[in-house]
Amino acid sequence: VTDVAVIGAGSSGLAVLKALREHGIEARCFERGSHVGGLWRYGNDSGMSSAYASLRTNVSRERMAYPSLPMPASYGDFPHHTDMAAYMDAYAEAFGLRDRIDLNTTIERVEPDPPGWRVTRDDGETTRHRGVVVAVGHDWAPRLPDDPGSFDGHAIHSHDYRTPEPYEGRRVLVVGAGPSAAEIAVEVATVARATTMSIRRGAHVIPRHVKGRAYDSGDVSPWNRLPWRLLNAGFAALLDDDRGPVPPAWPQPPWRLLENVPIPSSDLLPAVRDGAIAIRPAIERLNGASVRFADGSEEPFDAIVYATGYEMRFPFMAPGVLEPRGRELPLLRRIVPPNAENLFLAGFVDAPGGLLPIVELQGEWIAAVLTGGLRLPQGARPGRQERRTRRRFPSDGPDSIRCDPHAYRRLLRRDLRRARLPRTV
Ligand SMILES: Cc1cc2nc3c(=O)[nH]c(=O)nc-3n(C[C@H](O)[C@H](O)[C@H](O)COP(=O)(O)OP(=O)(O)OC[C@H]3O[C@@H](n4cnc5c(N)ncnc54)[C@H](O)[C@@H]3O)c2cc1C
Repeated sequence: VTDVAVIGAGSSGLAVLKALREHGIEARCFERGSHVGGLWRYGNDSGMSSAYASLRTNVSRERMAYPSLPMPASYGDFPHHTDMAAYMDAYAEAFGLRDRIDLNTTIERVEPDPPGWRVTRDDGETTRHRGVVVAVGHDWAPRLPDDPGSFDGHAIHSHDYRTPEPYEGRRVLVVGAGPSAAEIAVEVATVARATTMSIRRGAHVIPRHVKGRAYDSGDVSPWNRLPWRLLNAGFAALLDDDRGPVPPAWPQPPWRLLENVPIPSSDLLPAVRDGAIAIRPAIERLNGASVRFADGSEEPFDAIVYATGYEMRFPFMAPGVLEPRGRELPLLRRIVPPNAENLFLAGFVDAPGGLLPIVELQGEWIAAVLTGGLRLPQGARPGRQERRTRRRFPSDGPDSIRCDPHAYRRLLRRDLRRARLPRTV
């Protein structure tokens, strides 16, 4: 019997495992694939990685790294997935996590077994634990739109996209306006006969380098405390010379620059400007070999790549414990599900900015709860910190996993600081 089971050895599971170990909590991690690293292991034999061959982080190296292990400068400003996978290996090695991880082990069932949890592996073995940490990632189960009609050509979700070669000489439609849609459209356009993006809502596009530095080099906590309008206006002013004019075809969204999810890409707007990528509105209907768009236009396509995001799924979890709706999941501090003692989620945060600094802090927070040092804030109102998240994601509900990374970290740090205060009762 191990005190705590951690499910998944991607960047989140590794960070929690480290924290638990450092706080003297006996933990065992179960990983479906034959390597650590999750998404960052290209072609992961877990079948769950959505990485494509050219994938680099969209957050710069210094903001992406775990605070406890700097990334080598040789990774460049935006590390490639091969660097990220090497970094995950180095992290597991540096903090002695290897012998705590059972690779090639899929968790098939997690059930309440008061006062703890019962965990069943794919080899049928069952173990009991005081606590369970679910760190299985939220970017592996494709979310596909429910467009009317049907398409005769080749259609995939970006989860299954790897390289542009299969699209050589073809007419390709990329659906979506997130970072993956932009990157896939840009590289497909280098080989395709014609490339079109279908975009329901616009998105701000930020070049990867601004004034010769990574675009997010100023995305550090003290600046993040500036009034929201000022922060957005300041960044927009900085950007103007470097971005060049936004082509009229690109739909500019009505929200501020840093609101929702901007696309960090130096290549997208030039490709639209050059005519290498055409822009169309939302799909209205799939008509066999062609697609009709919301503006009434209709065009033939050979292939569609749906870069339409992911849904959260927990196929192993007992019914009623974790029930996400889209990108919403009711969790205290984006970690603890209601009415489930000693069950924690790690990495269920969608924040513009690196996830790794966040999950190290989540690990500390979980360890503090499990050692009894931190009592769960009961009915606590997150207050000021969450107001920044609300402004950044104005159309997201209160249970959204999207959040402002600085505000969220401040919230977890505040809990940890308070936990160290002497108990008064
Ligand atoms: C294309 C793309 C690009 C991205 N780029 C960035 C970026 O630049 N910066 C950033 O911060 N974030 C980025 N993200 C978000 C990304 O999902 C996270 O940063 C990171 O992968 C999350 O790590 P994780 O450990 O939570 O999940 P994952 O990396 O998905 O790891 C989860 C692990 O759990 C294992 N697992 C799942 N189910 C089970 C089970 N039942 N039993 C045992 N093991 C299981 C999986 O095999 C996997 O190893 C990107 C996402 C996508 C899709």
